[in-house]
Formats: sequence, structure tokens, C-alpha cells
Amino acid sequence: QGLSLSFFDRQPIGELISRVTNDTEAVAVFYESAVAQIIRAAFQALIVAGIMFVLDWRLALTAVAIVPVMVAATVLIERISTPAFAYMQERLGEVSGFQEETIAGQRVVSSNRRSEWANEQNALLADEVFATGTKAFFTSVVQFPLTITLTGIQISLVLLVGAILVIEGLATLGDIVSFLGLVALLSGPLSEISNLTSTTLAAVAGGRRVFSIIDEQPSVVDAPDAAAYQFEGGHVQFEEVDFSYVPGRQILRKNTFEAKPGEMVGICGPTGAGKSTIINLLTRYYDIDSGTILLDGQDISGLTQESLRRQVGTVLQEPFLFTDTVMGNLMYAREGATEEECIEAAKQANAHDFILDLPQGYDTVLTERGANLAAGERQMITIARAMVAQPKLLVLDEATSNVDTRTERLIQEGLQRLMEGRTSFVIAHRLATIRNAHKILVVNGGAIAEVGTHDELMERGGLYKTLYLSQFKSQAPGGSADTTAFVST
Ligand code: ATP
Repeated sequence: QGLSLSFFDRQPIGELISRVTNDTEAVAVFYESAVAQIIRAAFQALIVAGIMFVLDWRLALTAVAIVPVMVAATVLIERISTPAFAYMQERLGEVSGFQEETIAGQRVVSSNRRSEWANEQNALLADEVFATGTKAFFTSVVQFPLTITLTGIQISLVLLVGAILVIEGLATLGDIVSFLGLVALLSGPLSEISNLTSTTLAAVAGGRRVFSIIDEQPSVVDAPDAAAYQFEGGHVQFEEVDFSYVPGRQILRKNTFEAKPGEMVGICGPTGAGKSTIINLLTRYYDIDSGTILLDGQDISGLTQESLRRQVGTVLQEPFLFTDTVMGNLMYAREGATEEECIEAAKQANAHDFILDLPQGYDTVLTERGANLAAGERQMITIARAMVAQPKLLVLDEATSNVDTRTERLIQEGLQRLMEGRTSFVIAHRLATIRNAHKILVVNGGAIAEVGTHDELMERGGLYKTLYLSQFKSQAPGGSADTTAFVST
């Protein structure tokens, strides 16, 4: 949870989940069952070996001579098996990743009639886990017959040396028989340890994968002398900001703009232009290549991420709710938020009425991603949640797509109240939603192509006008372009 967004960009979610489930499970099984057994068996083996040496050091030496051979065999098997186990855990991660995606995207799978394909693909990936697992376990399974064979050799050697000692008159037959009992006692714990080889190797392979995440360092880190952000009205300045997600592919070029305290700034432009990227930088989810981002005159690279994100609220395009009650989801926004504050926020976001209509009102449990709510209702709850957080600045990523006009109006009323008095950035695809913004940034190919109010940009007759007219024309018959506009604050 503490890693930077760039880490999650690189990792398929299911793969990560496999690491925190399958791989930690492999380590857990080792600790739960193997560790105690190994310690007990090793202890038993040491005591028996000690007694052997007290009884007859010559026979004892013969009996324990087999131990270095066993250790060498274990090391050899470990060399072959460990990579096989690592490979198996990787394949397990792959199948978990595939399952996570196809379950999360079940609707897309089903609507594209790919259920059959998903099942087949799952079977193929599972077969691969089975095949690699068989190989991994086979090499470690060899350990068991090997131990039995070595134990057999051990008994034969003790008998041989014992026979010579009896013939020479250096030991009695009774000594040899009692010694053989000890050899049997020694072989028990040794084969027990070797039986646990596969559990141990799976744990080693799983542990490595878990540690590769534990050891991962966040790419965005607080400076050693980072200070907490001191809010002074919410003045945002981007100065000559360059940014690339991956080296060599520059996304933002020399972005310079400002938002004065309390201003609503609309951001528009073609898809892939860099609108969301600007927002990601404002909340410092990524570090910039060059330039400066100032919040109330404080360079965000010198601020703690925690203090920054506490003050910047976001309402994303895809509302995400947790499997919890409506109230739980609202309270999530701020530690110490009271029920009264959450209900008031819901009222402000126009969510109160429909929440009361839910089977258990505020105590209704929402499913993951809020699937038991309509898209507009989910969005209204996320707006209420953002209100509970009481942020000083706001980021809204086209929050009103795919809802009917009435819901859209309710959502926009809620957003309007949320934005009141707060510096807000609103990413909009439908330009009518930012028509009344104090300032509109038109982003194109990673550069700020135009800045101004709606009227100024229309007068200018550039990209904004082209985009606006094309949308207005397509929406005019429904008459919705103008009716959806925010009311200027
Ligand atoms: P849209 O309107 O479709 O949401 P946008 O203007 O918000 O688009 P961005 O999401 O900012 O566009 O993306 C700008 C560019 O950066 C795109 O070319 C995209 O492929 C690239 N990009 C976005 N996110 C990442 C990422 N995490 N890693 C690498 N490249 C990315």
C-alpha cells in the first residue's frame, strides 16, 4: 500500500494478489508444520548420535559417516529444485492473475461470449502449474527414496563394522544389536527432515517472491527535510513542468499555468492529451522530470505526501466503493468523522434520499465496487465521501459520464457544493460541464495549447472552439449541452 503508483502500473493485480496469498501461504505452511518438526527431528538426531558416541565411538563414527552424504545430496537436490519451485510459484501467480482479471471483467467476458475461452485458458494455465509443480515436487520427492537407500547403507556398514569388532573380540553381539536400535532411532528423524524438503523449498521460493515486494522501494519518496503542506488559500502553480512515465517517452512538455485560490479550472483536450497526467502530478503520484509545482508557494517536492493528499480530494471517473456499509464508506474519508457529518455530506451530495430508500438505509452493505448501486448513485456516494474528507483542493475527473440527465443534474449540484470556495480542477470530456469555469486549460499532445474562459476561447477560434462546436452540434438535438453546465461560483 505504501508503494508508488508507478509500481502498480507495472504489476498485474492478480499477480500481486498471488504473492500476498499463495506465496505467503507457502511460507506460512513451512512455519506452521515444518519448523517445529525439523527442530524436533534435529534435536532427536543429536541426542541419539550423542548416546551412540558414548556407547561405542567406532560404530558411532560409522553410523554418522552417512550424514555428510545426505547433506550433499540435499544440497544437490536443492540446487535443482529451488528454481523449479520458483518457476511453479510464478506460474501460480499467472493463473491467479488470469482468474482475477476474468472474474473482475466477468461481464466483458460474458458479453463477448468468451466464457468458454476463459475456462479453457484457465485450464491451460492450471495445467501448466500442475506440470511445473510435478517437476518441482518430483525432484524433491527423490529425496525420500534416497534417504531410505542411504539409511540401508548405513545399517549395512554398522553391521559390517560391528561384525569385525565382534570377531576381533572388541564388542559383544549384544552391543551390536542395541546399537542397531539406535541406528533405527537416528534414521527416523533424518528421513523426517528429508520429507520436509519440498515444503521447505516451496517456502524458500515463495519467500523470495514475497521479499521482492517487501524490499521494493517507493519511487516517490518524501525528502529527508520534507515539511507538512501549509494551506494558504489553495494557489496552484505549474512552472515549465516536463514529465514522462517511462524514460524516453515525454508526456508533458513545458506545462505552465496557475489556479488562483478558489478558482475552478477546467481541463479539456483530446484523449491521451495528458489531462489525467497533470492531475497525477498535482497530487504527486509521480515525480516530475523538470520544472516546479507550487502549492501556495510551497514546492510540492519538499512537502510530505501525506499532508499533500490530505488536502487534495479526488472524485474519479470510476467510483470505487468498498464492501462495507454506506456509512462505513463515507467514514472512510476521514478518521474521526462523525455519523452526523457523513449524513450532512450525503445531503449536500444529493445522496441522502436514495440512501434512505436502500433496504437498510445507511447500514446497507455495498458490494465490492458498489455493484448493487446504479452508476449515478455510486458517484453521489463518492462525492459525499469527498465532502466528508473536507479537502482544501479538489480534483474531479469527468464524474458525470453515463448517467441520465436528472441524475447528472443531481450530481452536478453535489459537485457544485463540494467545489464551493475550493480551488478545483475538473477534467471534462463534455465541454458543457466546464463552460462556466474561471479558466479552461486546453491540453493537446502534452502541451497547454490554450488557456482562457469559455468566451475567450470561443473568440480565439482555436482547438477549444472546434471541440466545443463539434460537441454542441452532436448534442444540440437532445438539447443537453447547455443544460449540464456548472453554475459559476
Ligand atoms: P483521457 O481523456 O482519455 O482520459 P488523458 O488526456 O487524461 O486521456 P492521460 O491519461 O494523461 O491522458 O495520458 C497521457 C499519455 O500518457 C497517454 O499517451 C498515455 O498512453 C500515457 N500514459 C498514461 N498513464 C500512463 C502510465 N501509467 N504509464 C505510461 N504511460 C501512461
